[in-house]
Amino acid sequence: MSEEADHKKFALVTGGGTGIGSAICRALAASGFRVAVHYRSSEAGAKALAESLPDALTIRADISNPAEIDNMIAELKEHTEHVDVLVNNAGYNVNAPVIRMTLEDFDAVMGVERGTWYLTKLILRRFMMRKNAGRIINISSVVGHTGNLGQMPYTMAKAGIEAMTKSLAKEVMDRGILVNSIAPGFIETEMTKVLAPEVQSGILAQIPLGRMGKPEEVADVVDFLATRASYITGTVIHVNGGMYGG
Ligand code: NAD
Repeated sequence: MSEEADHKKFALVTGGGTGIGSAICRALAASGFRVAVHYRSSEAGAKALAESLPDALTIRADISNPAEIDNMIAELKEHTEHVDVLVNNAGYNVNAPVIRMTLEDFDAVMGVERGTWYLTKLILRRFMMRKNAGRIINISSVVGHTGNLGQMPYTMAKAGIEAMTKSLAKEVMDRGILVNSIAPGFIETEMTKVLAPEVQSGILAQIPLGRMGKPEEVADVVDFLATRASYITGTVIHVNGGMYGG
C-alpha cells in the first residue's frame, strides 16, 4: 500500500460489487476515500470495479455467516488501521406470500440483517471506537416503512435496520460516531430492469416524480452523510421520488 493510500479515509461498502453498492463505491472513491468493495458471490464485478477506483480493494464474506465476518475483519486489519465509514448496503429478499414462504427463506433474509448487526458491532469495536470517530450508513428501504405484498421477511428486516439505526445512534453519539439510514424507493438496477412491463408501469404509477431513481441518486446521499453531514444522526433519509415521506 502506498503512503498516500494509507492517509486516505477508508470506507467499507457491503454488497459493493453490484447495483446501488457499486454507485456508492464510485461516489466515495470520487470523494477521496480508499474503498473496500465487499462482495459475496459477484467476484468478477467487484474486482473490475475495484481496479477502476484509485487504491480500492475487494473483500469477500457471506454476511449471514459470523465466522466469515470474523475472517473479513482480520483481513481488513491487514489493510488498514481505520475504517472511517461503514455502508451496510448488502440486502437479500425472497418474494412469496406468507403461506408459501418457508422458514429457510425467512432465515436467509434475516441472516443478512443479523450479520449486518454483527459486522457493525465488530467495526465499532475494532476500528471506530478506538478513534472516537466514524459514520455508519445503513441502506434500508421504503417498504420497511410501508410494508409490501409478498415481502414480509424483507420488510421486517428493513424495519429492523431502521430500529438499529436509532438505537445505535444513541449508544455511540458520545463517541463522535454518527449513524443514519437511507431508505430508497424503487431504484433502476438489474433487479428492477427485468420486471415485466405491466409490473414496471404499476410501480411508476406509485411514484409522484414519475420515474424510478438512479443508483447514483442514492449514492449522492451516502456521500453527503459520509463527508459533509455533521448534525444528523439516528434518522432516516427517504430517497423515493415522493412515494412516502415518513
Ligand atoms: P443488489 O441485489 O444488486 O444488491 C444486494 C447486494 O447484497 C448484492 O451485492 C449481494 O451480493 C449482497 N448480498 C446479499 N446477500 C448477501 C450475503 N448473505 N452476504 C453478503 N452479501 C450479500 O440490489 P440493489 O438494488 O443494488 O440493493 C442494494 C441495497 O438497496 C439492498 O440492501 C436493497 O435491499 C436496497 N434497496 C434496493 C432498492 C431497489 O429498488 N433496487 C430499493 C430499496 C432498497
